[in-house]
Amino acid sequence: MTDFSATRAMFDLPEGVIYLDGNSLGPLPVAVKERMSRVIADEWGQMLIRGWNQAGWMEQPRRTGDRIARLIGAEPGSVVMGDTLSIKVYQALASAFEMNPTRRVVLSDNGNFPSDLYIAQGLVRTLGEGHALRTVNPEDVLDAIDETVAAILITEVDYRTGRRHDMKALTARAHEKGALAIWDLAHSAGALPVEVAGGGADFAVGCTYKYLNSGPGGPAFIYVAPRHHDAARPALSGWMGHAAPFAFDLDYRPGDGIERMRVGTPPILQLAALDAALDVWDGVDMGDIRARSLELGDLFIAGVEARCPDLKLATPRAHDQRGSQVSFTHPEGYAIMQALIAEGVIGDFRAPVTLRFGFTPLYLGHDDVNRAVDILARIMEERRWDRPEFKTRAKVT
Ligand SMILES: *Cc1c(COP(=O)(O)O)cnc(C)c1O
Repeated sequence: MTDFSATRAMFDLPEGVIYLDGNSLGPLPVAVKERMSRVIADEWGQMLIRGWNQAGWMEQPRRTGDRIARLIGAEPGSVVMGDTLSIKVYQALASAFEMNPTRRVVLSDNGNFPSDLYIAQGLVRTLGEGHALRTVNPEDVLDAIDETVAAILITEVDYRTGRRHDMKALTARAHEKGALAIWDLAHSAGALPVEVAGGGADFAVGCTYKYLNSGPGGPAFIYVAPRHHDAARPALSGWMGHAAPFAFDLDYRPGDGIERMRVGTPPILQLAALDAALDVWDGVDMGDIRARSLELGDLFIAGVEARCPDLKLATPRAHDQRGSQVSFTHPEGYAIMQALIAEGVIGDFRAPVTLRFGFTPLYLGHDDVNRAVDILARIMEERRWDRPEFKTRAKVT
C-alpha cells in the first residue's frame, strides 16, 4: 500500500492552503529545491560546458523519459522529454499525417484543450492539400471515425468536465478504420493508471507541470510506439534529433528510435526539477492513487451536492468515465472561485462557468476535502462571492 502520509511530507505547501489545483500546476516537491541548487552550483557552476558529458545532460531527455514511461505503461526507450506539450502535439500529428498519406482528416472533439485544436488548425493550413480538422462532441468520437480519418487526436481526460474517454475502445476503432491514434495525457499522466502500450496507442504526449509536479514550464513528453520508430519522421527536424548532432552534417538524418523526436537543446534545469519530482513516485502504486482520488472526488461531490444546491455537477459520476478532477458549474463561477481562493482553497475557473477542483492523493486527504466543502458551503450560503473585487478577471483564471 502506498504511504500517503509519507508522500504528503515530500511536498512544500504553504501553511493554511488547501490545494485543489494540482491538475493545473503541481506544488513544489521538497527534493526539487535541493536538486536544483545542486545542479546549478555543482554542474552548471563548476562543470560549465563539460556538464553535457560529465553530468550526462545529453542523455537526460531519454533517461527521464524512461521514468515517465513507467508511469504511462510505455515500453522503455519509447518516451523522450522536451519542449512544451503544444509542440509535442504538433510533432505527433505531423508524423501521423505523413504516415497515413492518402488521408486528410484529423478527428478531435470539442472538449479538447484549445491549444491542441489550434496546433491542428495551424498544421492543416500548412499542409494545405485538403487537410482538415474535424471536431465532434466527445460522446460522438467513436462513431465519427471513418475511412477519411488519418489520425484521431484525443485528450483522454477533458480539462473542463473531467470526462474520460475510453482509450482502448477509441484506439481499436481507429485502427479498424485505418487511422492512427494520438493520445494527449495532460490530465492522465500521474492522475490515473495509463497503459499506452496495452491500449495500442500510436503516439502519446503530455505535460509534466500538472500531476507530475515539475514546476511552471516543465518539459513535455512524447511517446512513439516502437513499431513506428522507423516510420515516424519528425517535421520539426532539429539538430538534437539528428543521428549525429556533432557531425554538423548539412543534411538531416533522423536519429535512432525516439531520439529523433528531440528538437533543440534540452532544458537541463527544468529536467533536473522534473527528475527530482519523479522521486516522489518511486514507492507509489498507481492503483492506490486512482482508488484514493476517486474516493476524495466522491466525498467532495457528496458534500457539495448536499450543501450547495446552486452548484451543478459537470463531471460524470461513474468512476470509469472520469479522471482525477471534479467540476461544478455556476453562472458566477469566477467570483465564487476568487472568494474560495481568498479563503485558502485554491482551485481554478474555466470560462464560461466551470469551477475545477483537482484531487491529488499525494498530498490531499479526507480532512482537506471536508474543510474545502465547509468553506465553499459558507461562501455559497452567505453569498460571500458577491463582491466587486471577486468579479474582476485576472489574466490567468
Ligand atoms: C495543459 C494542456 C496543454 C498546455 O500545453 P503547453 O504547450 O504545455 O502550454 C495542452 N493540451 C492539453 C490537453 C492540456 O491539458
